[in-house]
Amino acid sequence: MNVKQYDAIIIGAGFAGLYMLHKLRERGLSARVLEAADGVGGVWYWSRYPGAKCDSDSIYYSFTFSEELYKKWRWKDRYASQPEILQYLNFVADELNLRPDIQLKTRVTKAKFQEEAKQWEISTDQGEIFEAKYLISGVGCLSTTNIPPFEGSESFKGEQYHTGRWPHDKVDFTGKRVVVIGNGSSGVQTMQEVAKEAKEMTLLMRTPHYVAEARNHPLSKEEQEQAINNYKDIREAFFNTPGGIRLYTTGKSATAFSAKEQKEKLEHIWETGGLSLGSVFTDVSANKEANFVVSQFVRDKIDEIVEDRDTAQLLHPNYYITTKRLIIGTNFYEIFNEDHVHLVSLKDNPIERIVENGVQLKNGTVECDVIIYATGYEAMTGSLLKIDIEGRNGKTIQEKWEDGRNVKTYLGLMMESFPNLFMITGPQSPSVLTNMPAAIEQHVDWVDQCIEYLEEKGIQTIEAQKESELEWAKQCDDLANQTLYPYTNSWYTGANIDGEQRGFVIYVGGLNNYKAICDQVAANDYEGCTFEKLQSNVL
Ligand code: NAP
Repeated sequence: MNVKQYDAIIIGAGFAGLYMLHKLRERGLSARVLEAADGVGGVWYWSRYPGAKCDSDSIYYSFTFSEELYKKWRWKDRYASQPEILQYLNFVADELNLRPDIQLKTRVTKAKFQEEAKQWEISTDQGEIFEAKYLISGVGCLSTTNIPPFEGSESFKGEQYHTGRWPHDKVDFTGKRVVVIGNGSSGVQTMQEVAKEAKEMTLLMRTPHYVAEARNHPLSKEEQEQAINNYKDIREAFFNTPGGIRLYTTGKSATAFSAKEQKEKLEHIWETGGLSLGSVFTDVSANKEANFVVSQFVRDKIDEIVEDRDTAQLLHPNYYITTKRLIIGTNFYEIFNEDHVHLVSLKDNPIERIVENGVQLKNGTVECDVIIYATGYEAMTGSLLKIDIEGRNGKTIQEKWEDGRNVKTYLGLMMESFPNLFMITGPQSPSVLTNMPAAIEQHVDWVDQCIEYLEEKGIQTIEAQKESELEWAKQCDDLANQTLYPYTNSWYTGANIDGEQRGFVIYVGGLNNYKAICDQVAANDYEGCTFEKLQSNVL
């Protein structure tokens, strides 16, 4: 078989894969991106459900590594829609002339570390074999869809869609009865659009969630120009704020304010829109009283907006706000005032099975023509675990991570037994708690500099030490335990799939602090790692 040789293979052509390819090519290395889809974009290629949008302000949802590139693009709206983000990523691919080194419609199925040759052998669903010194995962945190194994779904006579695998052609809901399962970010955004067309729309809701107002709007020419002129400040925010984005904050604990002042601050955020309910006070995610102030504010808003008392009550979330990803929506709670929109709580009335004419619950069947699964992703680890990755001595990533129950990494970037394998925004890095392009740039820059170090010193392999993995897991857990996050079952803990808590797989200390740790590791000659060097070239 014809084996293709590269310095690096990169999996995925989303934000991470595109920037990694650019950096390695600049370094003079040969690199190839392998991407399963037939276009670039990563999760933004697939998540084309109606209303799909980003929840970071678009002026921050761009690459900042090149001032010239940043200044060439103008975002149309405060929150960019999926088609616009896809356009942006295609623009980046063209501007940087990346396409010749991106291979589409190619899914990586297996990667095996070859002990003798000290390189990775990568197999694809196209029957090709690649060999590369470096293997870099840009598979993303949220790309493997979670479709709960409801019995009987094959018997349903109508249409079924998952938000994360939406068809390319427009789905017409006119005159149809639609059931939506799931009310996370994807479900909320979808429902706002589907409610405009459908004859009936019913949300089957397991857990009520907090939805803040987005206040999306077209950006004026002045706002666009302001973003361009603020380039330096935006870049500064990427790496010097906890979330890689500037959010509104008073910089003080909730307890520093009277109840009236707290309410004024929260009203200000509700009116100006966005994710700042989580940042307005410094202790929202760490202190139960501060958290209650903010969560009660949202419950009060629901009561103000939703006319039917029972429906309002059912929509009341009761977990600590921000411990599941805060959602932003546009007049979301208002849609429950419309006669054709219905809410069914699954709390005492769970889904039993899908039947040919709808969804059978414990207390009866909700008949429908369309089922939309907005049931999320096998977050953080799902996409890597799907690939058959075999490190030293035949050890697989599934074995190492006990199928996701016991994730072990160093900095969320590397793993013991898996030399020269780097993960961009892997589990145990800040990733999904940040503005993703910021986290991606930080990781790609770090990996690029690490590769420069290895190449300059003639090092064949770098690999995390077991002790550094243990120490890193402890740091992640210790930080999470100082917050309210572990109190809630969510996909931050992997508990969205089967209700089983799997340890906290995100570094919650902030991207700014995380970057400082990564930079220190690099400055200390990649402490916590072991190296292999050609024998003639002793370290
Ligand atoms: P999600 O937040 O995991 O929400 C999944 C929803 O499906 C939840 O309401 C969940 O209920 C429900 N669900 C799952 N399994 C179920 C079952 N067996 N029966 C009934 N309900 C079930 O997924 P998502 O909405 O796709 O969002 C995932 C993440 O993607 C977001 O948090 C965000 O980070 C990202 N995202 C971002 C944007 C954006 O604006 N940039 C847009 C979409 C997605 P429970 O809550 O009870 O588990």
